Amino acid sequence: MHTAHWTGYENRRSRMIERLAQMGIGQPVLQAMAGVPRHLFVEEALRTRAYDEMSLPLGLGQTISQPYTVAKMTELLWGKTPQSMRRVLEIGTGCGYQTAVLVKLFGEVYSMERIAALLDKARAHLRAVKLVRARLVHGDGHLGLPECAPFDGIIMTAAATHIPEALLDQLVVGGRMILPIGTQEQHLWMIDKHASGIEKTQLDPVRFVPLLPGAI
Ligand code: SAH
Repeated sequence: MHTAHWTGYENRRSRMIERLAQMGIGQPVLQAMAGVPRHLFVEEALRTRAYDEMSLPLGLGQTISQPYTVAKMTELLWGKTPQSMRRVLEIGTGCGYQTAVLVKLFGEVYSMERIAALLDKARAHLRAVKLVRARLVHGDGHLGLPECAPFDGIIMTAAATHIPEALLDQLVVGGRMILPIGTQEQHLWMIDKHASGIEKTQLDPVRFVPLLPGAI
């Protein structure tokens, strides 16, 4: 019976991967997501919906993004010369799901979360799925992690009103940042840092919880 239960989640995960493939996500990210049991990152009562194409509440007013958004943002980060994408910083750890996907793909992963109680949960989730390589930091992501910079890539999973200057400073030349910007209306933005300056590309409309100041 335990086996049948587990198989149910495996089937749901395979269907999610097939759906993401149809939506245009490529192999590296599909493989990474196939290796992360997403249902173990959400509350028990929501587990059967974990692989559906929807965002889910993760407690304390925060949400885990829908699978396609996680896939797309990860792919945009990875797409830029993967071999150079060694050290990445995530802002907004939440339940740790996006962090787990990053650990599957990148050499060195740092993730910052402003709510200590969520960071504890994320740590437990990552331990449960044996993806403990990420360094989780309690703090305000607006400031980034200057002591661990520079980063080859930065991914933010909460919506900012503007691009935090500190994060741009902590990105290598040739690096890329993916983040949602806006309040009521939000778009995903891709920020490429070149020697000649910053290139900003507006992408799809999205819906994220706000990036808030301070750590609690
Ligand atoms: N990537 C997450 C999604 C989390 S939702 C996942 O896979 O579950 C966004 C998260 O950003 C929330 O947990 C919220 O507390 C956090 N957040 C908001 N403002 C922040 C800030 N200034 N610094 C760090 N984290 C922040």
